[in-house]
Amino acid sequence: MKFDDYSITAGIKTSLAKLGYRRPTDIQFKSIPPILKGEDVLAIAQTGTGKTAAFAIPVIHQLHTRKTKRRADGIKCLVMVPTRELAIQIHKVFETIGKHTSVKSFCVFGGVEEGPQIAKLEKGVDILIATPGRMFDLASRGFIKLHRTEILILDEADHMLDLGFIKDIRDLMSYLPKKRQTLFFSATINDVIKKLAYSLVSNAIRIQV
Ligand code: AMP
Repeated sequence: MKFDDYSITAGIKTSLAKLGYRRPTDIQFKSIPPILKGEDVLAIAQTGTGKTAAFAIPVIHQLHTRKTKRRADGIKCLVMVPTRELAIQIHKVFETIGKHTSVKSFCVFGGVEEGPQIAKLEKGVDILIATPGRMFDLASRGFIKLHRTEILILDEADHMLDLGFIKDIRDLMSYLPKKRQTLFFSATINDVIKKLAYSLVSNAIRIQV
């Protein structure tokens, strides 16, 4: 299977070709079809497997082709990550793969001035990659609008638990619509992670690579 054979928007294929990606990796092969269908996914995959593009490709496709494109309604897809480095890295992947589409992504994290982040958010963002602290700070003051968010992605969920973000993740749920697609990515799995995963994505398709 090649990316050319997928039913994804031509702009994404252009970006993948420029990146030199011809075929999906294992995690991409398994994740892209259910995510395109709108299913919840629980994926166990380490960094280096191509996990970022595994969710970025189908999410960009969905948001690019959907009719509801009003950015003023708020964030369409929220990606929660444990660290600032990961936020920047994932944002770059979304930006590169989405370059020839209508989808705009942005990232926010703590430890830097919030003014420029607020200014950018006010212009409208489709996909927001965020670390928990700054995310709650900006969401609680209305700068990040999550009432119309269609897709929630938790990346490196195990790392988020290690860093003590469990309460933040649970609190986040009250900001988000109940009816949404949830994608849960973790490098490892244990009982604590399973419990969190099943409280968020009880009927998820399970993928392990
Ligand atoms: P990740 O696991 O998301 O950190 O990605 C690991 C590395 O694999 C990154 O350097 C990507 O650029 C690269 N990569 C992701 N998908 C593909 C693909 N389908 N073909 C070739 N390289 C890829």
